[in-house]
Amino acid sequence: MIERKLFEFKHTYQSLPQPFFKKVNPSAVSNPKLVFWNEELAKQLKIDPAALDKEELAELFVGNQLFKDSEPIAQAYAGHQFGNFTMLGDGRAILLGEHVLKNNSVLDIQLKGAGITPFSRGGDGRGTLSSMLRELIMSETLHQLNIPTSRGLAVVSTGDQVYRQTVEMGGILTRVATSHLRVGTFEYARRFLDQNALEQLLDYALERHYPSGLASENRAKALLEFVMDKQIQLIVNWMRVGFIHGVMNTDNFTISGETIDYGPCAFMNAYFPGTVFSSIDRQGRYAYGNQPAIGQWNLSCLAGALLPLFHENEKIAIDMAEQLLNKYPEKFKTEHALMLARKVGFETSNEEIARFVSLFLQFLEKHRIDFTNAFLYLESSTYQSYVQHHEDWEMIKGKWKELLKSNNISEEQAIAIMQKNNPTIIPRNHNVEKALLEVSKKNEFTFFKSFMAQLKDPYSRSDRPVEFMLPPEGGDAGYKTYCGT
Ligand code: AMP
Ligand code: MG
Repeated sequence: MIERKLFEFKHTYQSLPQPFFKKVNPSAVSNPKLVFWNEELAKQLKIDPAALDKEELAELFVGNQLFKDSEPIAQAYAGHQFGNFTMLGDGRAILLGEHVLKNNSVLDIQLKGAGITPFSRGGDGRGTLSSMLRELIMSETLHQLNIPTSRGLAVVSTGDQVYRQTVEMGGILTRVATSHLRVGTFEYARRFLDQNALEQLLDYALERHYPSGLASENRAKALLEFVMDKQIQLIVNWMRVGFIHGVMNTDNFTISGETIDYGPCAFMNAYFPGTVFSSIDRQGRYAYGNQPAIGQWNLSCLAGALLPLFHENEKIAIDMAEQLLNKYPEKFKTEHALMLARKVGFETSNEEIARFVSLFLQFLEKHRIDFTNAFLYLESSTYQSYVQHHEDWEMIKGKWKELLKSNNISEEQAIAIMQKNNPTIIPRNHNVEKALLEVSKKNEFTFFKSFMAQLKDPYSRSDRPVEFMLPPEGGDAGYKTYCGT
């Protein structure tokens, strides 16, 4: 028999106390077929599936068979969902193990949609093929945009039906992440376990993500600072490309600062900070423009969970945590201003640049101009047909040129910076839906493949098919996305 070994598995997470996980095997599916294999990621992981045939790979990547040295578990966590505290845990995700890379760092290899776990809370433990492919498209895009994220190694259709708004084909995504530690993992430890378990989790998280913090005088404070900096970078980057996560509950907010749990996420077309696509986000809590504030709210949940480790005296602990959290708005503002300055061609920001950016964004918002293409048109008239015509464009472009002059930056220098920060393609909602529909309902891959190929190189200025660059005709005001589909 062929040895079904592909990964170099370790199980460091299982060194945490037992309540942090439950052993569980994936449930069998009837007819697995490999739908997508991520060659580029496989190379990075230094895994070579050549010894395994396609059928066997499909069996392995749904969990019908286990890879050598797998020790499958579901992780326990809690979280604030839309502000309310709840016990959660992996309800449909099963961690097979941590793959060891050459430099001794580890990556979680997880099957998402692999069946019921002790944390399924009445759910079916499954996902639809369409939603798994959606996560794949979105996460691969963020990766190619140089934004930290979990990734997709394989997508397999299960051959079994999944019941949602309609009957759908089931799918399983193999998700790869530097870890799945969440703010919610800390909230779980704080609420349900003892201080010893909380401290072990703290040390585990530091060792895995921020080892320099282990030597610091106050390790809880060090972790909060690290996560704050990473999350600020992450959210600023989402804002840069018009990404709306859609469900920034604390259980979906990582300690690593990677994007995870792609549910109702979507990219914004027309610039409008209040943009929300998620069908359940009726108050707009997770709207595009609210993401910075929610980041701080989520970090305050992490601070709350870590409180006893800040200081044994609660009042002192609260003071320390507050002092740290109060730095968030200023830090965010600085990074956000720098990001916007880069989008218009500068490596640093100043008041004059900030004034221009503000004028530009107001113009986009007022006339609902496409966010992605607006920065392209500023860069070059080549993109004129991709933005809505408006008589003020000439005035805006004139002001931009004056700004370059007064800051001693040539147009070439500015354009070089803009080309590294402004993508020419994003996965627009109507294209995502088209790709998913064709694959999941018609087993037709042509559009999906060309879409994925374009998304591989999102900063390229080479010509692209127009259909990938234009927002949908008539906008996407009625577009809705769904959680956990
Ligand atoms: P999410 O919105 O995807 O972050 O999921 C929130 C919680 O619901 C997590 O604990 C998930 O594991 C759980 N969940 C989502 N979908 C399912 C499902 N189909 N079956 C069981 N649990 C689920
Ligand atoms: Mg989640």
